[in-house]
Amino acid sequence: MTAIADFPLTAGVQGFLGGGPKKLLIGGEWTSAASGRTFVTCDPATGNPLTEVAHGQSEDVDRAVRAARQAFDNGPWPSMKPNQRERLLWRVGDILSERAEEFGQLEALDNGKSAGIASAVDVAWAADVFRYYAGWATKIEGSTVNVSMPFAPDAQFHAYTLREPVGVCGLIVPWNFPLLMASWKLAPALAAGNTVILKPAEQTPLTALLLGEVFQEAGFPAGVVNIVSGFGDAGAALSAHEDVDKIAFTGSTEVGKKIVDAAKGNLKKVSLELGGKSPNIVFADADFDAAVEGSLNAWLFNHGQCCVAGTRLFVEDKIFDEFTQAVADAAGQVKIGPGLDPTTQLGPLVSQEQFDKVTGYLAAGLADGARALTGGKRWGDTGYFVEPTVFVDVKPEFSIVREEIFGPVVAALPFNAEAGVAAAANDSIYGLAAGIWTKDISKAHRTARQIKAGSVWINQYNGFDTAMPFGGYKQSGWGRELGAAGLDAYTITKAVNVAL
Ligand code: NAP
Ligand code: MG
Repeated sequence: MTAIADFPLTAGVQGFLGGGPKKLLIGGEWTSAASGRTFVTCDPATGNPLTEVAHGQSEDVDRAVRAARQAFDNGPWPSMKPNQRERLLWRVGDILSERAEEFGQLEALDNGKSAGIASAVDVAWAADVFRYYAGWATKIEGSTVNVSMPFAPDAQFHAYTLREPVGVCGLIVPWNFPLLMASWKLAPALAAGNTVILKPAEQTPLTALLLGEVFQEAGFPAGVVNIVSGFGDAGAALSAHEDVDKIAFTGSTEVGKKIVDAAKGNLKKVSLELGGKSPNIVFADADFDAAVEGSLNAWLFNHGQCCVAGTRLFVEDKIFDEFTQAVADAAGQVKIGPGLDPTTQLGPLVSQEQFDKVTGYLAAGLADGARALTGGKRWGDTGYFVEPTVFVDVKPEFSIVREEIFGPVVAALPFNAEAGVAAAANDSIYGLAAGIWTKDISKAHRTARQIKAGSVWINQYNGFDTAMPFGGYKQSGWGRELGAAGLDAYTITKAVNVAL
């Protein structure tokens, strides 16, 4: 069971993986799928199986929705005081912090990412998100409204708004940040008083299921958090379910559109965090070394499997050759290996499917005439490892420039002036994030205004914070996660007007 003998697993991870097939969490009980079926989840560093997981399908989704409905309609969840919800959510954050190493290892095994980074970034941030929204539970407020009521000039009124939970929420998450994406949805949904069904990605169900144990340990009432592992059909059943009030989704733009179609039946609310092909713009007056390091982080973090990955690197022509060579040299230094190895900086891609997709784009880029300054092929001959790849001599119409690759691949394009670079950067169906590197503060802010993206990071990349709203323009999504704005997706406003 120890995937890689040299890197011992914590007792918690060994116990979790050794304890037989993982079950679904429905109505406070761990239960097998109605069909009795399971599927195998694998370690992408070796391809070896890790454990079996219950294969939830529409019947299981239906059971979970009924449990969530019961917990929402009949309690005790909606009648619980906000400060009681606050304490439960805070407890989840604390348990995650206490068990960061265990969660980090499990994430590394299931996803391929570095265990150290998973503990320090994914798990630590997830804990922060639970604590942040724990604080919001007591601060979700309506307002009193000064109404004029022109058709009743002599009467008096007391008008106010209530911000209520939406109800039963389906949360569908991808495999790139399995625990973190789940926490971005779970924490605000629960703070606002909703009940949920979480559907993790088929490639990475394990930390979601371990998190189910944490919710139980923290003392959440039965049915408030339900977890159904399975495939796309389980997500589709959740999206189409007549008794689900809202779907929050992170994943591909293609599946996002299917969710919009499926939600039509009962017009459930939908929020979407979708794909990206984000521009990262380096002006010649930027701090060169900081921009090289930041630009590498922009496209290589999490092996490029980031919706915000800065994979279109626009570099001012005066420094183009020197800068792209420096980025390629830095990429060539990155230590590649399995996620459990503490010295690893770049692990394997998540799956055979993703490996095939990324290596397909490498071949397409080369066939189109792009030149790889570094990389351009798989790394080693086992596992789903791909060399970090910097492409130059690219044209805006190449697929490697237009399409989301979701791997360690960047396409660099020169530009010759501030005028025009924003238009080139905006030439995409996506609009999730952007980076700008310059010492000229006015140029930085001017460019930030012209960029059509939900997040703009200046002299840094991946400048996320739990308090900052995050989401897409254009086909990168609907709605915002994180921050105060993140609660909007999980609350609905009622206007109450009293004749006095
Ligand atoms: P995906 O298909 O969009 O998967 C995301 C989640 O949606 C998973 O839990 C998935 O379940 C579920 N799902 C699949 N079909 C569904 C349907 N018809 N209705 C409801 N839910 C459904 O993404 P993927 O297949 O993992 O990756 C494909 C590509 O999407 C990647 O190569 C990448 O380009 C992009 N992607 C983007 C993000 C992002 O953060 N923006 C994240 C991941 C992937 P299964 O896992 O069982 O399919
Ligand atoms: Mg899929």
